[in-house]
Amino acid sequence: MTDASNFDAIIIGAGPAGLCLAIGLVRYGYRIGLIERQSERAIAEPGFDGREIALTHRSIHILQGLGVWPRIAPHEIAPLKRAAVMTGRSAHHLLFDQRDTKCAALGYLVPNHLIRKAAFEAFAAQTGVSFLPDRQLIGLEVGADAVIVRTAQGETLRGRWLIVADGRFSETRRALGIAADMLDFGKSMLVCRMRHRASHAETAREWFKDQSTLALLPLNGTESSAVITASAAQTQRLQSMDPAGFNRELEGRWEGVLGSMELSSTRHVYPLVATYSRRFADRRCALIGDSAVGMHPVTAHGFNLGLQSGSSLLRELQCASPRLSRYEAIHGRTARPMYLATNAVVRLYTDTRPAAQVLRMAGLHLANRLRPFKKIVLSSLTEFDPSYGADAMHTIPQRMD
Ligand SMILES: Cc1cc2nc3c(=O)[nH]c(=O)nc-3n(C[C@H](O)[C@H](O)[C@H](O)COP(=O)(O)OP(=O)(O)OC[C@H]3O[C@@H](n4cnc5c(N)ncnc54)[C@H](O)[C@@H]3O)c2cc1C
Repeated sequence: MTDASNFDAIIIGAGPAGLCLAIGLVRYGYRIGLIERQSERAIAEPGFDGREIALTHRSIHILQGLGVWPRIAPHEIAPLKRAAVMTGRSAHHLLFDQRDTKCAALGYLVPNHLIRKAAFEAFAAQTGVSFLPDRQLIGLEVGADAVIVRTAQGETLRGRWLIVADGRFSETRRALGIAADMLDFGKSMLVCRMRHRASHAETAREWFKDQSTLALLPLNGTESSAVITASAAQTQRLQSMDPAGFNRELEGRWEGVLGSMELSSTRHVYPLVATYSRRFADRRCALIGDSAVGMHPVTAHGFNLGLQSGSSLLRELQCASPRLSRYEAIHGRTARPMYLATNAVVRLYTDTRPAAQVLRMAGLHLANRLRPFKKIVLSSLTEFDPSYGADAMHTIPQRMD
């Protein structure tokens, strides 16, 4: 393709956020050009990346509406019935229990690569899409009526809208001249799967302990996703340990909570940097997913928020006269409190000073007793029909061919 190609929207980035919004827009009758840096094979057949995504009921509702959810095999979906938060050596823990809700589970865990695969399958099954993998952006012009995108492969693409979904270190955001706040936590996160002898009782455990934070997320059977947050040097050491030594190390760190443990996957390390774009919209361009807000994974909001951003934007683009400033305001109202609260939790729970330990314990006691607090957290996980946005992808009409 060397001539100008016209699209209703050009999306940069075929990650889960970009793919899901593309499906929603195509069903609404949009012609989509989806530009991706990686190869088609990498997007269609992504490998295991260690991430197990905790999805809220609202997200599952959106994924169902998009036809993504039915493409995920049921045995890959694990229910999360309880979540326990512990700090230091205190016997007290903060417990969230599905029995305090009207749902069968607080949420569901699904491997990230399978969400990506299912989203690509659902996207590729539609007509009205042009998938452009192996592309490198070399030029962007934002005019009053259109956006022009040029690629190193010699294409000139024209779109009414440009949607930026190329991740938290978004180069497109930078090319648009939009700044982002970045918070480097100075730590990394190692993730992998472990088999263990004892049952996890469908309970997620998060333990803020000494110099590191540990989590075990229940998968199906006697397998969990192990998450260790520590310094880059420590996570590197853990990643390169031989499996037998790694098993002993994890059993020791967890003090035998789930009995003997055995590594059952590859290990993956992610540097922990949260990002918050100063703008979510600019003229004919809108940012969604991690390119808008890249959350610290501890509160498992990232992709859930990314889906919500796509849903809110889709709703706006369905208006007779879309105003991206309205999308920006709506997404900001959702994302800002989550972002600030998550960063505050991370700071408090990774502070090694004695005063912080006392505060943490007091915080857990208080949170456990404050029924309204627990109710808010539980309903944010289990509700799926808020006043704005979440239903947009579900209720959109089928594609108008
Ligand atoms: C360890 C870990 C655990 C997590 N757990 C959870 C959880 O439990 N719950 C939850 O909701 N979220 C979780 N998240 C967050 C979640 O994984 C992300 O929010 C989500 O993957 C972001 O999707 P995205 O599509 O916005 O960006 P990405 O997944 O980063 O995709 C961006 C895409 O854009 C492409 N791209 C990049 N630059 C360019 C370019 N210049 N041109 C073209 N294409 C480009 C990339 O190749 C990629 O395909 C976790 C994250 C981590 C690291």
